[in-house]
Amino acid sequence: MPYYISALLFSLTFSSYSILVTASPQTTQNAIQADSTDIPPGKAVTTKSIDELCRDIGNKLGSVDENDCKKQALQSSSVFTPQGYPLAYKEYPPVKNREPLGKVLLMGGIHGDEYSAISIMFRWMEKLNKYHSGLFHWKVIPNLNPDGLLQKKSQRQNHRGVDLNRNFPSANWDALALKYWEEKAYKNPRRYPGPYALSEPETIWFSSVINDFSPDVIIAVHAPHRLVDFDGSIAAPKKLGNLQLRLLGTYPGSLGNYAGVDLDIPVVTVELASAGIMPSDHEISRMWVDMIRWLRQEIPKRD
Ligand SMILES: [Zn+2]
Repeated sequence: MPYYISALLFSLTFSSYSILVTASPQTTQNAIQADSTDIPPGKAVTTKSIDELCRDIGNKLGSVDENDCKKQALQSSSVFTPQGYPLAYKEYPPVKNREPLGKVLLMGGIHGDEYSAISIMFRWMEKLNKYHSGLFHWKVIPNLNPDGLLQKKSQRQNHRGVDLNRNFPSANWDALALKYWEEKAYKNPRRYPGPYALSEPETIWFSSVINDFSPDVIIAVHAPHRLVDFDGSIAAPKKLGNLQLRLLGTYPGSLGNYAGVDLDIPVVTVELASAGIMPSDHEISRMWVDMIRWLRQEIPKRD
């Protein structure tokens, strides 16, 4: 069985307690077999509720207050980060008597120091709360890396220092991810891909969401490179609001490489212009309208 499938099974089978722990790097095999007997004494942390997650997001982000977050009624995946935060999502399911054009997985905050990429998810969820008509079936993950965001000084990587966007099990991970990090990224800790693919609870869970939800398109929001990147075999969006398409290629272990190239699920990477300053309301709406127009045009062509 490919190890990423085993890891998915691991994520679904084992209790959140075993995922909560800051485990030391292990080989793929024994990580998959990890159970509570591997937990180093004193390393387990208390799990937090969605309300506590919202309290901490509200305290951290200038553009999202605690109540904005609570109003979303995010659901807990029952997978928790090493710091005890629930990995949370919101689903906008099909409506009665309308077959959706497709399924869209919208994700922000895989990098914990890209504040605007998380804040904008709450603004777009407000739009969905108002206007969800069943045109698409949405799953929204506003903050895939709460540990990176919510520690005292926010950081790109997760709590264990792994760049989650280099930890997906792309086919070239074993051959290239660590080599690339050493030789091309000069061991920059911000780009550390982890000891092995899918070594982190956040990527294990996100991969299981891809597997279970089987999206037609994944949209991942980042900052601050001011562009739209795309990996996939359908036509890319030329622009989203002021952001223009600029193809950057992929890295070993990136979501674009894993989902866009290996799984053939188109991945739109939205790079907002600033990590610390939100786009204007007008721009947030324009991006949304362009995104819906593109999804409407291109998703039906996937069949
Ligand atoms: Zn990023």
